[in-house]
Amino acid sequence: MSERSEPSTTAPKARLLTGDRPTGPLHLGHLLGSLQSRVAMQDSHECFLIVADLHTLTTRPERERIAELPRNVRAIVLDLLSVGIDPSKSTIYLQSGVPAVYDLAILLQMLIPASHLRSLASIAQMAKIAGVDDERMSLGLLGYPVLQAADILMARAQLIPVGGDNLAHVEIAREVAQLFNEMYADVFPLPEGQASRVPMLPGIGPDGPAASKMSKSAGNTINLGDPAEVVAQKLRTLSGSRLRAFIDALFDDPAQAEAMSAEHRAGQLSDAAAHEQLIQATEALLAPLRERRAAFEADDGLIEEILVDGTIRAREVAYATLQQVREAMGLEPLWKGLIDVAERRALARKKPY
Ligand code: ATP
Ligand code: MG
Repeated sequence: MSERSEPSTTAPKARLLTGDRPTGPLHLGHLLGSLQSRVAMQDSHECFLIVADLHTLTTRPERERIAELPRNVRAIVLDLLSVGIDPSKSTIYLQSGVPAVYDLAILLQMLIPASHLRSLASIAQMAKIAGVDDERMSLGLLGYPVLQAADILMARAQLIPVGGDNLAHVEIAREVAQLFNEMYADVFPLPEGQASRVPMLPGIGPDGPAASKMSKSAGNTINLGDPAEVVAQKLRTLSGSRLRAFIDALFDDPAQAEAMSAEHRAGQLSDAAAHEQLIQATEALLAPLRERRAAFEADDGLIEEILVDGTIRAREVAYATLQQVREAMGLEPLWKGLIDVAERRALARKKPY
């Protein structure tokens, strides 16, 4: 047998970053669009999962909406644990608890043309769902992708698994990283977005502008924590092309999904029969989650402990990156230069005559 060196066990894993806005509990779109791949990559990657409360402020800055954050933040972490995210492998952290990210966002803002942001369909859709017209769009909502770039780049993340609505934002983060590296110094790995097999699960309920995407803010969700009878009732509201989109999303064997969709389109599979098959497939996914959720929910203080631990870890990473960025841009040398002179002067002043 030829001699072969063992693969190093200490080689750093590539970093992955993704996350959710604490605007409500996670839904089936998250599970199929993002959560399943997060769980699958926990061992191969160093995962950072952001609970993006600052991103929530972009459409919900009111006091009473901020008062909803503690409950929504808990709900997200509970959902993450119930799908199988393991906090000993993944860093789950609270975005607003990492102030170095805002510093970084300000610096990155200088490198992103505002016209890029104005042309993004994803921001227009978020504004529409939130009932914000063009006139009232805040700088924060327009700049959402800049803060998202700061989240990604602070972790020096390479892989960003997201739904279809967020792919354009990862592209912006990549462009900024590239520009930064060219202008100043090679600080950032170039992040890459990864769309899942289900980039945009539609919502349940009546047709309307928000129907094409299941969204927490649109009230058209099947939540991961919904009881079985609620899930069944919601699935029974589906018809037409949205029903077929659910078939494609839930049956991951493409041949089976294709055959069912074709039968439905041809009128050989009734809505009612399709609903029953969807209910079975969804239950197979959600039933184990409900059991795990109940166990984590009963463990008092667990969620808070996980978030605090994760946020402290994220802070360390963020400050280290910010330091490199300030160094590369010349801001740290500027500050150090001032301190050097001031220190020398202070020393001179104390010199005995
Ligand atoms: P909100 O309505 O508050 O924006 P949301 O339901 O869009 O909530 P986010 O927290 O914005 O959820 O998104 C978290 C991640 O899940 C993102 O990567 C997003 O692209 C993905 N995602 C959200 N909705 C869907 C969906 N319906 N299908 C697939 N992926 C989705
Ligand atoms: Mg969203």
